[in-house]
Amino acid sequence: MMSTSESEDVTFFDMAVAICPECGTPVAESGWYGIDMGSDVQCFECGNAFNMKEHATDRATLSITLSKNQRIKRLGVEEKVDLE
Ligand SMILES: [Zn+2]
Repeated sequence: MMSTSESEDVTFFDMAVAICPECGTPVAESGWYGIDMGSDVQCFECGNAFNMKEHATDRATLSITLSKNQRIKRLGVEEKVDLE
C-alpha cells in the first residue's frame, strides 16, 4: 500500500471523450473547451470537424501526480462526471 507522500504534488485535468461521427475515432479534449463551451473539434484521423458536446460519450477529471522534479509520474481518474 502506498502512503501519501508530502513531496508528491497532484494537479487535475478536466477532459472529455467524443466519437467522430464520420469515422468513429475517439477524440479527447478539455472538458471545459469541448463540453462547457460547446466547441467544434477536429478529428485527427479523418480531419472532420464536429461539435464535441453533441458527440461526447464521457467526461472525467484526471489526477496528475508529479514527481519531486515536477515531471508527470502517474495519471489516474479522480472523478467521473455524468453527461446529461
Ligand atoms: Zn474522424
